[in-house]
This record gives sequence, C-alpha cells and structure tokens, in this order.
Amino acid sequence: MPTAGPLPTLFEGDVLLPGSPGYDVARAVWNGAVDRRPAYVVRCAGTDDVRAAVRVARDRGLPLGVKGGGHSAAGWAVPDGGLLIDLSRMRGVVVDPVARTAQVQGGALLGSLDAATQPYGLATTAGIVSHTGIGGLALGGGVGWLARMVGLTCDNALGFEVVTAGGTVVHATPEEHPDLFWGLRGGGGNFGVVTRFDLRLHDVGTQALTAEVDLDPASGLDALRTWLASAYDAPRPATLLAQVRAGGPLTLGLVWVGAPAAAAPLVALLDGLGTPLARRVAPLSYLDLQRRSDVGAAHGHRRYIKSHYVGDLPDAALEAFLAHADADVGSATLLGYGGAIADVEAGATAFPHREARFEYDVSARWDDPADDERHVATCRRLSATIAPWSVGVYVNALGAEGGAAVHRAYGAATYARLQQVKSAWDPDNIFRLNQNVPPA
Ligand SMILES: Cc1cc2nc3c(=O)[nH]c(=O)nc-3n(C[C@H](O)[C@H](O)[C@H](O)COP(=O)(O)OP(=O)(O)OC[C@H]3O[C@@H](n4cnc5c(N)ncnc54)[C@H](O)[C@@H]3O)c2cc1C
Repeated sequence: MPTAGPLPTLFEGDVLLPGSPGYDVARAVWNGAVDRRPAYVVRCAGTDDVRAAVRVARDRGLPLGVKGGGHSAAGWAVPDGGLLIDLSRMRGVVVDPVARTAQVQGGALLGSLDAATQPYGLATTAGIVSHTGIGGLALGGGVGWLARMVGLTCDNALGFEVVTAGGTVVHATPEEHPDLFWGLRGGGGNFGVVTRFDLRLHDVGTQALTAEVDLDPASGLDALRTWLASAYDAPRPATLLAQVRAGGPLTLGLVWVGAPAAAAPLVALLDGLGTPLARRVAPLSYLDLQRRSDVGAAHGHRRYIKSHYVGDLPDAALEAFLAHADADVGSATLLGYGGAIADVEAGATAFPHREARFEYDVSARWDDPADDERHVATCRRLSATIAPWSVGVYVNALGAEGGAAVHRAYGAATYARLQQVKSAWDPDNIFRLNQNVPPA
C-alpha cells in the first residue's frame, strides 16, 4: 500500500502539495483533456533531488511520473495520487562549439536547445514544436526537420546520465552499460530518469525555407502521387509532406534546412503539380522554422491523435487520405522519411522503423468536453481508413492504447530486447507510467 505523509526535507528544489502555489501549473500537461492530481510534486533542482525523489517513491510504493515538456498526449507524466518528478527547473544546455556537442539537462525544452546551438550555426535533430521536452522526444526516437540529414535525435545521443530505479546515478554510453545505452535510444522512459543527454551537433547553418501549395483535394490525386513519389529519395536537407484538413485544401509542401537557393529544383517540382489555390514560399531562419508551429500547438486544448507508419502508398490509400477533407473535424499529415533515418540498422537502436516511407498522423483539437466523443470517433474512423497500409507506429505518437499498441510500436525483436533491459534496470517496473515495456 502506498504511504502518504510529509516528504522528508532532503530536497534542494521545491515540494508542492495540492493547494501549494505552482501545484496546478506543475500538474498541467499539453493535452487539456488530462486532469490528474499527484499527491506530491518534487520540482527537482538537480540530479541529487531526482535520486531522492525516486527513492522516496519507491520506498513508499507511490506511483511515479516524470515530466519533461508535458507533451505526451496521454499525459503519462502525471500520476494520480503519486509522486511527480517535475524537471522544469532542469532546463540548462551547455554547448561545446569546438567538439560540436551539447550537454542538455533532462527537463530542457527543444527551444532551449536550438537557442543555445544556433549562435554557432549548429543544431541537432529536434521536433517541430519548440515547447516539446527533449526528455520524452529523444527517449522515444526524436523526429524533426533534420532527421533526413543527420538522423533521429536518439541517433545523435552520445551518452546519458541516468537515475536508475535503485536511486543510483549511472552513465550510459556505447562503452559503459551498452544495453542501457541501446534501450534509451527509442525505449522511452522505461529505464530511469535521464538527468542529462549528451548530444552530437552538426553544422547546419541558420537558414531554412518552407514551400507549400494548396490544391483542391477533389482533383488532387495526381499531384499527391507525384509529390509523395519524390519524398523518400529527396535530397537530405528536404522533408516532403502532405496535409489535408477537414473542409480544407490539400497542402503539399517541403521544409528545407540550409541555403534556400539550393531548394530551387524541389520548389520547381512543387510548382509543376498544378494550378494552386494558394502558394507560399518563405525563406526563414532555422530558429523561426523551429517555432513556426508553436502557437497552433499551444498547451491546454483538448487533443486526440492517431498515427501509423506506412510504406509506399497505392492510389487507394491516397484516395483514403484525400477523403479526410470530407470529414467534419481533424487534420492529417503524411511526413516523408528516408535519408539518414534509414541509414541506421533496425536493431542498432530501440527505434526499429528505419524503413518507414511516411509517418501518418490524424489529430483533432477542441475545447468543450461535450465534443470529446465526436472528435475522438472521427480521428479513429479516419485512421482506420489508412490502417490497411500500416507497417507500425511511432511510440511517441501513441496515446494510452494498451500493451498491444506498445508491442506494435517496437515489433517482436526490439520488444523482446527491451524487456531484457527492463529486467536488468527496473525489475519492479517502478517506471511504468509511460509506453510501458514490462520486465521479461
Ligand atoms: C505539439 C507536439 C509536437 C510534437 N512534435 C514532435 C516531433 O516533431 N517529433 C517527435 O519525434 N515527436 C513529437 N511529438 C511527440 C513527443 O515526442 C512526445 O509527446 C514526447 O513524449 C514529449 O516529451 P515531453 O518531455 O514533452 O513529454 P512528457 O509528457 O513530459 O513526458 C512523456 C514521457 O517521457 C518520459 N520522460 C520525459 N522526460 C524524461 C526524462 N528526462 N527521463 C526519463 N523519462 C522522461 C516519461 O516517461 C514521460 O511520461 C510532439 C508532441 C506534441 C504534443
């Protein structure tokens, strides 16, 4: 049985209880449909606080949650009645521009990472919304506009400082605890609290370009087919995408990282797809690119997301995608993979989907709880129309979908190996509020 009562006064950071100033901010997550009340929030000031918090939770049998950026759509970070390790005071980033590395604290948001690296023209793969946490993102894989150029965030991890289930601090690198190092590159929060990520940086400059055309979805099949056919083998600075919004146009576009002039051939291809309803071509800084979806992806709204990895898509799949325009809610995206993502062997990290052609997501945003069922049902229905072409799913795009979905996110071989790592590092499954892989 969990035991309550005051926490020992061994924290340098803050302990927040229900009613404390800051408690409601600490327990809030990105998805406004999640409303959980931990018994304790420990706003850790550093690694020692994380160690103490893990030990207290373990000794008292309290459910334990770990919050980085709070973006998990299922709101895993916050345990009802348990202890929340809030990493919001651990957001430091230290860049070594000569070695091209960054030391990133476990609670850092992507915007802090980009802000620290871009003055040197450096960056590493981070997601496309700057208020996402490096913690959950990197541990599940980490896909962003640089992924086709330099790999996933987890491919750029050089090492991790980890507080284990036993409350000790270890370093996981290719040489030290290689099994843990493997599992942390895709296996999510299953193995401990990462207090520091050591990441490789790349000289990507500070420039970028976005180009988009809006087309009529009713006559968009040929354009969609042509555009997506170029996605997998596109030049590595480019990521090609297609979007459909309920009642809206088909948008085909690309994001380019680097000197905008070099994107001209792809922009010409885009312009050749037909007469657009609208056309937007915008050179912008890499930092602005990384922030451009921040407002649309703001915290606090109710959200639902369903996702698949898909291979090459026949016309029947493209027609199903275009039919999303006829729905009453939701929007869907196909994001091109390939490039450096596919350079890595499937078993080299715990992120196995190296051969995926596209990531498909359908999502909805609303505010009135009375609309929950309509939005969730529509997203599920639309996603089911793409499911026949599904080859898996990104673990970071899963909601609370149960053990079978987690299994699908990893596939049999990776899942079995993750279970071995889990048995070695968290045999009692203390870290279970996540896309959980139980011990073998
Ligand atoms: C608006 C939005 C945009 C997104 N864009 C992208 C994208 O471009 N690319 C992409 O790959 N993904 C993207 N995602 C998915 C994202 O990677 C996951 O939601 C991820 O879990 C977010 O991490 P977080 O730290 O913000 O979340 P949190 O909810 O704080 O954490 C989620 C889980 O991660 C674990 N965790 C977090 N930090 C740590 C840590 N330091 N140590 C151990 N475990 C930890 C815990 O298990 C926790 O329950 C996006 C999500 C949203 C909501």
